[in-house]
Amino acid sequence: MRATLGVLALCGLLLAFTLASGPITVGETKITNDYPETVTFEIDASSAAASIVSVKINLLTRGDTSTLIGTAEFTPGKQVTARYAWKTRQAQVPPGAPVQYTWTIRDEAGNELVTEPQDYTVTDARFTWQTRENEDVALWWYAGNARFGESVFDAAARALAAMKQHTGQSLPYRIHIVLYANNEDFNSWHRYAREWVGGEAYSQMGLTVQIVPPRNTSQWIQKVVPHEIAHLFFYQVTSNPLSLGPPTWLNEGFAQYHEFSSPAAELSLVRRSAQSGDLIPLRLATGNLTGSDERIRLLYAESLSAVTFLIERWGDAGLAQLLAAYKAGRNTDAALMEATGLNFEEFQEAWWEWLGGASGMYPTPPASAGVATPRPPALRPTVPPLPVTATPARPPRGTSGGWFLCGLCICCAGMAGMSAVLLVLVVRALKR
Ligand SMILES: [Zn+2]
Repeated sequence: MRATLGVLALCGLLLAFTLASGPITVGETKITNDYPETVTFEIDASSAAASIVSVKINLLTRGDTSTLIGTAEFTPGKQVTARYAWKTRQAQVPPGAPVQYTWTIRDEAGNELVTEPQDYTVTDARFTWQTRENEDVALWWYAGNARFGESVFDAAARALAAMKQHTGQSLPYRIHIVLYANNEDFNSWHRYAREWVGGEAYSQMGLTVQIVPPRNTSQWIQKVVPHEIAHLFFYQVTSNPLSLGPPTWLNEGFAQYHEFSSPAAELSLVRRSAQSGDLIPLRLATGNLTGSDERIRLLYAESLSAVTFLIERWGDAGLAQLLAAYKAGRNTDAALMEATGLNFEEFQEAWWEWLGGASGMYPTPPASAGVATPRPPALRPTVPPLPVTATPARPPRGTSGGWFLCGLCICCAGMAGMSAVLLVLVVRALKR
């Protein structure tokens, strides 16, 4: 396979050389940024052989499985200036989206030139952005002083350093955080405004866009920033296109484990629930976390507890092995077996005993409760061009310890739940 790819790459190089030395030549691409409405790409091209008859731009947003092919407008001739206006609002392209583009230019004689790929990051130029970045994380913000930006950046950088240390993984690509100061500015680049949203995560792009007013409390920054980027990190180190991916409890537990706040209240809630017989079986935290505020809080706390148990018993090495197994496409039983020597049922039993439960007495869910029910579609974000998760604007009332419901529960986990339901339906249909 590698040899085939090598040959293909070599062919590609030779082809590029042939094309570059052909009759068609191009100048530099000029980009006019009228975000959020459009981003216009412009190129000068000429052919020594014949009139240019086709200029197309190929736009690939990171994580997208298909390339957008845009037909540029120009007046045919041997020398042309061609433009393509990318309708970014219509396509719901978020600020910070990393894009790669190439041009394909043809003349009437059948010559063709495909330019080398170039990178472009979509920017909301209506605001004057301050930036802070290192090799793992880039932060953009426009409201608030340098100190505010530094506090967010510091929380993100420290959280990422901890994640790298715990998992032994480095990031395939840098995580990008874009901060808007209020709902109005955040909604201004969307096609549809949504009042309840406090931010969005674009896992495949490694991007999160959040509403964080500069007056925001540092407690919120210490909780939300590490939590959201933990989900982006988790996605990068576990995603495999051929598998359903890790369960929600592992993802949410991993994210909470990396928050900079004391986990004591949540961990003791789980122990109390285990003692009082109210513990919810962990297998019910594999899809979307739903129910009353109280139940959701317990499911979150259990997720944190299970991950804390995992790391306490098997160390960072166990966690690293578990995530690597998911990345390799293993299901939960196989991944846990590789990392801990236990399958999921046995892992739950071990966790139960760690909580003080009696051996063999782990609670079993009611027969009807196979997978957690996904949330109603009305509560999910509108359909975006790429998978996106949304963070509700504020923590739910009636909860303590600054607990908040993260966007992943609403969307990604919901989709995982839906996928599981669909899978069951497909299997049933096939059995008939
Ligand atoms: Zn979360």
